[in-house]
Amino acid sequence: HLNPVYTIGWQIEEMMPAHGMARDKARARTLQLLQRVGIPEAESKIDAYPHQFSGGQRQRIMIAMALALKPDILIADEPTTALDVTVQAQILALLEELQEETGMGLLLITHDLGVVAEVADRVVVMNSGEIVETGTAGQIYSDAKHPYTQKLIAAVPGTGEMATPLEASKPLLEVNGLAKHYGDFVAVEGASFTVLPGESVAIVGESGSGKSTLAKTLLRLEEATAGEALYLGRDLVTISPRELFDLRREVQMIFQDPTQSLNPRMSVYDIIAEAFVIHPEIIPKAKRRDRVAELLSYVGLEPGHMQRYPHQFSGGQRQRIAIARALAMEPKLIICDEAVSALDVSIQAQVIELLAGLQDQFGLSYIFIAHDLPLVRDFAHRVVVMQAGRIVEQGPVAQIFDDPQQEYTRELIAASLSPDPEIQAERRRAQMEGVA
Ligand code: ADP
Ligand code: MG
Repeated sequence: HLNPVYTIGWQIEEMMPAHGMARDKARARTLQLLQRVGIPEAESKIDAYPHQFSGGQRQRIMIAMALALKPDILIADEPTTALDVTVQAQILALLEELQEETGMGLLLITHDLGVVAEVADRVVVMNSGEIVETGTAGQIYSDAKHPYTQKLIAAVPGTGEMATPLEASKPLLEVNGLAKHYGDFVAVEGASFTVLPGESVAIVGESGSGKSTLAKTLLRLEEATAGEALYLGRDLVTISPRELFDLRREVQMIFQDPTQSLNPRMSVYDIIAEAFVIHPEIIPKAKRRDRVAELLSYVGLEPGHMQRYPHQFSGGQRQRIAIARALAMEPKLIICDEAVSALDVSIQAQVIELLAGLQDQFGLSYIFIAHDLPLVRDFAHRVVVMQAGRIVEQGPVAQIFDDPQQEYTRELIAASLSPDPEIQAERRRAQMEGVA
């Protein structure tokens, strides 16, 4: 893991002399590695600290670190899970190149069947600690024998029906020209979009494109540099702290990593009931226990487990706890920032289904931030595409996927990996021909 108090360049360089690489060459090699894993402006960023990078960029730095010593066997545990599809393709190509150069073996652990189809010679499928099936990538995809493997393949996102646009109504949220600058750096600029009641608006774009910054600005976790965000007519950017406190009930956020967002020392009951401590007006004390039980059943968890602690749950269940905590506030809008990105495909599908069900039940709106386009395709009413801090395209989900107007959107869609090794091979051939 990256140490927050050292520059990323130092952390990579530091390992090299111990392994026989001269100090003066170490820096050049570090720079080269950073460039290879796709860190923009690596020459200046080499002396930056981990917090100065977006989540996706930090993952790339971790990969550079692992690659620095050219190992005999590289065990890569979900190396591209947090990365953009376009960068993912580069990283997978990079891993293959290094494999060819050095002859190292690659043991790649992934929940993404698209990655399997792209990279693997052989596949080992595990379930509950046991190997249930092995074979070539082609066999596994087209001729899975084990029910678990079949279930995994059936859960691959991006194949369902797309939502039709909602009828026009008074927006719940209207964002106009929102901007966030860090000094001279423009993280978000001129962002304008609306969210209707009961609507799911997806925000997609590569890491570093400003998605999280936009979300944080909406929630006033960051102060906007310019623009407005009208929530039922009230501007989230300028309202008083008192009003903001009230509105925070209605606008909730769910993050990527439930392990970090749930306090490990609090029971599930305390985590969810904290909403009622902060906002006692929601429900009288005597009814809190029943309400927590009800919230747990909404999200598909056992009400009897409310005295357990987060570590006693799986990743998918922890995300359900985070959803129950958000629901406790009786929100109208939930901002999900990569909320299912770290989960396995089959669990992802279940959580998405849960979110969609809760939307029907409570008329919730979502801002659903994701770098995974197939996932968004199955879930969103409308899609907003961000690139380098700006919205480059937005529209109904079917328009974005079937008739994208921008080259960038087309690239994003094309870079999504199919779980079918034959489609993947076909695409590679087409790309090679394109290059040649
Ligand atoms: P995304 O969520 O789309 O991956 P982010 O919103 O996290 O992107 O980051 C957008 C850009 O803003 C990135 O280039 C990132 O390095 C930069 N950034 C984010 N937070 C800060 C900060 N506190 N200071 C300086 N730059 C930041
Ligand atoms: Mg982000």
